[in-house]
Amino acid sequence: MNGARAVALLLLFAPRSGAAQAALTPADSAILNSQPLRRLVLAPSVMRRVSLLAAGLDREVVLCLRGAIRGDTAVVDDFVMPDIVASAADAVQPLPCAPATTLAVWHNHPWTGPDSSFGVRTPEDLCSLSQPDIRSVIADSIPFAVVSVGRTPRPIVCWWRRVQALINRHVKFLPRFPRQWLEAPSLAAPPPEPLRSVP
Ligand SMILES: [Zn+2]
Repeated sequence: MNGARAVALLLLFAPRSGAAQAALTPADSAILNSQPLRRLVLAPSVMRRVSLLAAGLDREVVLCLRGAIRGDTAVVDDFVMPDIVASAADAVQPLPCAPATTLAVWHNHPWTGPDSSFGVRTPEDLCSLSQPDIRSVIADSIPFAVVSVGRTPRPIVCWWRRVQALINRHVKFLPRFPRQWLEAPSLAAPPPEPLRSVP
C-alpha cells in the first residue's frame, strides 16, 4: 500500500462472540491466544479483483491474501494464487498457502441455484463454509477464511476467523455470521458501508 495517498479500506469486523458456539477447550484457547487478529481489512482493489474473478468463474479456485498486520488487524492489499490440484464447481484442492505471508485464504462458491439438502435458497446462503472447507481452515494455520459467492448479479463476500471454524468444527456447514458478510451494490465499486479512510 502506498502511504502517500489516503486509501479507503473495507473494514471487516469480527463480532465479539458468535451465537450458539461450543465452549472453548484449553487447546482452542491456546490457539486463540496465539492468533490475536480480530479484524480483517480488504483494500478496495482487492475486493474488486476477487469479486470480478468470482463473478466469472464456474469452478472454485483459491487465493492466498497477503498484506500487513497492524495491531489486531490484518490489512490485505495483495494476493497470490497457489497451485491447484483439483477444481470443480463445488470443491477445490489447492496446495497450501504459505503460512508466513498469508493473512487469509479466499475461495469462491459459484452460484448454480438453490440446494435444499443444505438449506441454500439464495446466493447469500451459499456464503458458508462446508465441512471440507472447515477441515482445511483448521488444518492450515491462516488466521482468516474468506468466501466470495460468484456468478451473482452483485458481489457477496463473507469471512470467518480461524478460531470460529475451530469452535464450530462439528457442524455440517458454517453459515455466514450476521456482521461478517457484505453484499456490494455492483462489481464496479466496493460497498459504501462500512468504509473508512485510513492514512
Ligand atoms: Zn467452499
